[in-house]
Amino acid sequence: MILVVNAGSSSLKIEVFDHDLTSLLTGSVTNIGTDGTIKLGDMRRDVNTADHAQALALMIEALKVAGITIEKLTAAAHRVVHGGTILVEPARITPQVITAIKNVTPLAPLHNPNNLAAMLAFQDMAPDLPQYASFGTAFHATNPDVATRYAIPQTQHDAGIRRYGFHGLSYAHLAESFGTDLPHRLLAFHLGNGASLCAILDGKSIATSMGYSPLSGLTMGTRSGDIDGAAVLRISAALGEAETERMLIQNSGLQALAGDNDMRSLLNRDDDAARFAVDHFCYWAARHAGSAIVAMGGLDAVVFTGGIGENAGPIRDKIMTHLACFGDVPVHVIAADEEKQIARDALALMDAGY
Ligand code: ADP
Repeated sequence: MILVVNAGSSSLKIEVFDHDLTSLLTGSVTNIGTDGTIKLGDMRRDVNTADHAQALALMIEALKVAGITIEKLTAAAHRVVHGGTILVEPARITPQVITAIKNVTPLAPLHNPNNLAAMLAFQDMAPDLPQYASFGTAFHATNPDVATRYAIPQTQHDAGIRRYGFHGLSYAHLAESFGTDLPHRLLAFHLGNGASLCAILDGKSIATSMGYSPLSGLTMGTRSGDIDGAAVLRISAALGEAETERMLIQNSGLQALAGDNDMRSLLNRDDDAARFAVDHFCYWAARHAGSAIVAMGGLDAVVFTGGIGENAGPIRDKIMTHLACFGDVPVHVIAADEEKQIARDALALMDAGY
């Protein structure tokens, strides 16, 4: 059994997989650092955990009660949000890989430290258990330089200011799901609270809408999507850096346009602000799609995933109406499953003897 661990900014999610990639059990600890909840299968209990290491220890205890001891695990596999330019493939966790993840921390200050904390906690609890990591940015490592480079001085580029792209595990899972029927030029939309798209040419990412951070690209639940750097500078001069960051990440997007970041609620509303927010979301998804389609030299199929992509038919329809100028292409919907991709990556490394 493989235990997949996804340590978010204030949560820890786990999923246990068999070696044939059947999901056996899912669980989570939410609101780490304050009053939160642990869930595992049907069990649910209020808990107060200090940090991710404590949350993981609690989860390991709960798994024991569910009959899954550490001894029964063959591996722990972690999601790491950012792999930077070095960690571009799934890897067995070694001291070198831990150092590399630490070095990337300035690029993902809210996430990578929690991913590391979970790995180190496992090393303490079960030093002999093999651990693996899959990186949220790695799928986009195949983007050409012309796509990843911002036209800014080389020193800044060398300091790490370039496009990376995110949601890579979700896109890798989508591409994998097509099996041998993978379309040649596939436009993939991951539309959840965070939203991005990816141009997948013969199974490889060649362009994506997110960049240096997950802020850029499409209009999102609470993130602005693309905004002119000069506008950011002016806002920052007025509000200060911290408040500007909070505004762009937590209080923009659908939230700013219609007072709600939940697409389902917006679709149920019958007022101008909600309609405008929905139109904005679809229009910008399609505008960015045009750019991705040009990068692929055309379009053979579209696939939607994520909470909105999977469930909101009206949003898919609106986006596809904008894209009608590219011809009539098949539209697929595939459930997002980053955890399965992480387990798949770990299994492949184990099979290869890592
Ligand atoms: P996250 O990025 O936080 O993982 P999700 O992928 O869970 O987000 O997506 C959350 C979004 O999906 C919310 O805006 C929610 O309203 C939307 N959503 C979920 N179900 C539906 C539905 N049936 N119709 C419209 N939107 C939906």
